[in-house]
Amino acid sequence: MQTLTTEEKEIIIRSIRDIPDFPKPGIIFKDITTLLSNPKAFNTLMTHLENRYTPYNLDYIAGIDARGFIFGSILADRLGIGFVPVRKKGKLPYTTVAEKYSLEYGFDEVEIHIDAFGEEKGAKVLLIDDLIATGGTAKAAASLIDKVGAKCVEVCFILELGFLKGRMGINAPVYSVLEIG
Ligand code: AMP
Repeated sequence: MQTLTTEEKEIIIRSIRDIPDFPKPGIIFKDITTLLSNPKAFNTLMTHLENRYTPYNLDYIAGIDARGFIFGSILADRLGIGFVPVRKKGKLPYTTVAEKYSLEYGFDEVEIHIDAFGEEKGAKVLLIDDLIATGGTAKAAASLIDKVGAKCVEVCFILELGFLKGRMGINAPVYSVLEIG
């Protein structure tokens, strides 16, 4: 089914644990390790994503370091397509393209292999991460996909902190399985 029932949404949302004041005071950290260790919730989520994205005829899934790797690689395998990691700076061994983005204090940087999507231009790519807050990480990752000649057809999150309006800055359609606020 492409749309989650209320019951399925509840199964997933109840499996995500809130950790107040992590990693610093005032932040409620959404801990998805409890989703991953709950087979019913994890399977409900992955089956929903498989059903949603089968008709997209995607060429690749790109996942954001590190939790996007978990959801992205399983989804890629279910769809029978390749997985590409978007990594934090300094981790990828071959020639990379990089993009900086702002944090509350300072900046961070993500990278992708220059040949990640093969030699043909215009590969259809879904970008995935666990959560969107300000949207800075996903915006930088989506622009890397364009920079290496592929097309980011959608950006998918398991959880969206809607009150931060992070999706506004992303230059591609955004789909969130669950939204808070
Ligand atoms: P942002 O660039 O602000 O959208 O932050 C998104 C990245 O930070 C994602 O990779 C998330 O996993 C992580 N993140 C930000 N806020 C939270 C939060 N409240 N709980 C869990 N992860 C978070």
